[in-house]
Amino acid sequence: MRTDQAHRRTPAMSTRAIHHGYEPAMAQGALTPPLHLTSTFAFESAEQGGDIFAGKQPGYLYSRISNPTVDLLERRFASLEGAEAALGTASGIGAITSVMWTLLSAGDELIAHETLYGCTFAFLRHGLSRFGIKVRFVDLSDPRNLEAALGPKTRAVYLETPANPNMRLVDIEAISMIAKRQGAKVVVDSTYATPFLTRPLELGADLVVHSATKYLGGHGDLIAGLVAGGAEDIEAIRMVGLKDMTGAVMAPLNAHLILRGLKTLELRMARHSDSALTVARALESHPAVTAVHYPGLESFPQYALAQRQMARFGGMIAFELEGGLDAGIATMNRLKLIARAVSLGDAETLIQHPASMTHSTYTPEERQAHGISEGLIRLSVGLEAPEDLLADLLAALDHLAQAGAKGRQQPVSHRLRHDSPPSC
Ligand SMILES: *Cc1c(COP(=O)(O)O)cnc(C)c1O
Repeated sequence: MRTDQAHRRTPAMSTRAIHHGYEPAMAQGALTPPLHLTSTFAFESAEQGGDIFAGKQPGYLYSRISNPTVDLLERRFASLEGAEAALGTASGIGAITSVMWTLLSAGDELIAHETLYGCTFAFLRHGLSRFGIKVRFVDLSDPRNLEAALGPKTRAVYLETPANPNMRLVDIEAISMIAKRQGAKVVVDSTYATPFLTRPLELGADLVVHSATKYLGGHGDLIAGLVAGGAEDIEAIRMVGLKDMTGAVMAPLNAHLILRGLKTLELRMARHSDSALTVARALESHPAVTAVHYPGLESFPQYALAQRQMARFGGMIAFELEGGLDAGIATMNRLKLIARAVSLGDAETLIQHPASMTHSTYTPEERQAHGISEGLIRLSVGLEAPEDLLADLLAALDHLAQAGAKGRQQPVSHRLRHDSPPSC
């Protein structure tokens, strides 16, 4: 017998990731929600079309505003983040730019964490400033720095935790409390964590943004983004930042693929996290490795915050080698299973060098000032058997130790200064 209690019980996150917002009866019994590949929607009458445009009755108009497949993903993702609403976008950068073009106007000030994904840094540092928006980069891993930096014109605070690429954490609860006193909105890029590890809105943030290209899609076959937050904010971002200012709309096929990705997200994050901890511990005890940055290690300087703010510690590791950048490049070039590629969150383990790749948007001086060391190597631990990943990594590192004894190769560090505009 179904009791009232059982009927009212909210299903667990992993159940909602599979079922929320859809019943097969809504689509002729189809177990998998249909993919609505349509740009526009026919009205029953001209009057009905007018009413939908005027907001007098619900309905779809045009897929730059909303689409049933994207809409299902948005509702399901909002449920996972504990948000009133969510919004799909064409990319992670499409999510971030749509939020910023909605929240900020000329004369406003934005405070951003000093360490960010390279393209986000480029947009905030070089893009927004062209439109009269002042951006200040502050080390938010110490919340007292926000207190000192906040001013009457601060409209928003932007951060990543764990930050790409150096893994530093930011205390979302402490930052949100301070920002709120000033009425500034807190925007958190939670790409590394996903809602299964951290839910920023429950900790006081106003908006959470994601590159859905990474763990949410999870299979390296699409580019997409998501924003979650209060219904009023999301509506404003949809109608201003997304519809008019960026046009960075999510394709229905990508929404369909991300809905598939969400079904295994909890399982994947558990596996990514377990394997990453195994790899981080092995790296930490290898003589060629001088530093491992992973929130799940007891040696991690913010281990207490990691335990408080993250359910698990995720699949991303940053590490540094004896011999710096040159040793890092030699190691990367010897790997056979692990792919040399940017991006992250895929089933495949990926390795890259931030200073010459994703974070070449920072000048060497900016990297130094913002805590991104030139020799740092970033590893996205995938879903392969951890013993195979370790065998590949350790073979490359052991070779390095032997080569090191015979003398170093020519340094390659001079390649890090770009004359052309950096990409990311
Ligand atoms: C990849 C990434 C982005 C940008 O997302 P795209 O989908 O590539 O536009 C933003 N933030 C973080 C933390 C990322 O890793």
